[in-house]
Amino acid sequence: MNTTTLQLLRAIPSVDAILQQAAFEQLAQRIGRAQLSACVREALDQLREDIRAGRVQADPDELMQTIERQIIARAERWRQLSLRPVVNATGVIIHTNLGRVPLSADAVRQVEMVARGYSNLEYDLEHGRRGQRDAHGEHWLTLLMDGHSAVVVNNNAAAVLLVLNTLAEGGEVIISRGELIEIGGSFRIPDIMLKSGCRLREVGTTNRTRLDDYEQAIGEQTRLLLRVHQSNFRISGFAERPSLQQLSALARRYDLPLYEDLGSGCFVDLAAWGIHDEPMVQTSLQAGVDLCSFSGDKLLGGPQCGIIVGKADMIRRLRANPLMRALRPDKMTLAALEATLRSYAVGRATEELPVLQMLSATPAEIRRRALRLIRRVRRRLADRVRLGLKSGHSLTGGGSAPDSVLPTTLITVEVPGVSAAQCQARLRAFHPPIICRIEDDLVLLDLRTVRPDEESVLLSALISVVNHAAVEPGS
Ligand SMILES: *Cc1c(COP(=O)(O)O)cnc(C)c1O
Repeated sequence: MNTTTLQLLRAIPSVDAILQQAAFEQLAQRIGRAQLSACVREALDQLREDIRAGRVQADPDELMQTIERQIIARAERWRQLSLRPVVNATGVIIHTNLGRVPLSADAVRQVEMVARGYSNLEYDLEHGRRGQRDAHGEHWLTLLMDGHSAVVVNNNAAAVLLVLNTLAEGGEVIISRGELIEIGGSFRIPDIMLKSGCRLREVGTTNRTRLDDYEQAIGEQTRLLLRVHQSNFRISGFAERPSLQQLSALARRYDLPLYEDLGSGCFVDLAAWGIHDEPMVQTSLQAGVDLCSFSGDKLLGGPQCGIIVGKADMIRRLRANPLMRALRPDKMTLAALEATLRSYAVGRATEELPVLQMLSATPAEIRRRALRLIRRVRRRLADRVRLGLKSGHSLTGGGSAPDSVLPTTLITVEVPGVSAAQCQARLRAFHPPIICRIEDDLVLLDLRTVRPDEESVLLSALISVVNHAAVEPGS
């Protein structure tokens, strides 16, 4: 070891000496004294290693600044939670990787109120005794679904499990080969069926299944007819399957229940916005389906949950299943769901639910917002970034309406000297992270899925990318 190395090592203060510095008092209060000590120890260990390896050029007097920087960088880790908000500039509305859909302002308020204190989650205020947890969403669902009963579980996968287990355990469930789907995240209908304790009876072929195929498969062991919405794929061309009305008439003739897994729970007709391939829950119930289930956080625009609606006697049997205890939703989910359902019940869903606002935004509206943002960026960055407009498509996502594309106006981003992939990575490293796509070597921003109040964040992120500024402090 040469003398400078020794001098540097000797100049390192002790952990206690550092902790006593007034400069760290505030940090200790924010992240806790024990966590701060750990940061200091780690920073000093690293520094000793760097000094021994000859990686530190600082003279002993500047050493303290290096140590401080190291400690603060390490302390950041304790302040930042793993789950955090991002800006979705991908144009994919139901984005499963990004938390599916945002809640309405009203739903967020309800969640906060219920989370902050106690609530009547399982308390009957009228009689002052124990009440029903899932009574909270039910009256809205009954109102919206023409008097049908309902029960709410944790997600639609849980709904499928509960229905199959309750109505068909130990028996056979008949399903068309064209509906044996897998959706993202390894949810496969045949696997769920196995876990729910019933046997799969496949009928027909991938592209064609007739009513006759169902009828011939019905036997002693049959407990249920199952129809599954094909979600993320479509069979077109030489394809055929019986209508829900026909299936329902068949189920009635053999005194069997008919259950439909709808995937996305759509309560409003989306045809006006160019989406023609997404069925409505009401249509299924009118067609004579006994039970149907769907997600709360796809097209419905609410919290993650699974909603089952249908005949009162079957809903009662679902509630009585011991599995219900393992599948029931928590109070924050119920609070958000109730607020979401109220938006539909009072006819304000299109105004209040972000998912429907994003779906209904026109390319011209999105273009106006894009132009405004481009002007703001130009004022700050002049020609240090090249922004343009491009026609393109947004996606519904979440396995709904795979054939429907929503025309949109995209912002193209080019930063001289920075590749598209680098630019995308820097946007992702911003606080909050901006998630976007690349096409033809251009970074694309789709404002359809960006809230107007997030446009300023995009502006700051672009400035940061251009300035090559590492990462801006949390906003
Ligand atoms: C999305 C989907 C599910 C699973 O719903 P989760 O709410 O994600 O559990 C089940 N079935 C179909 C047809 C779907 O599209």
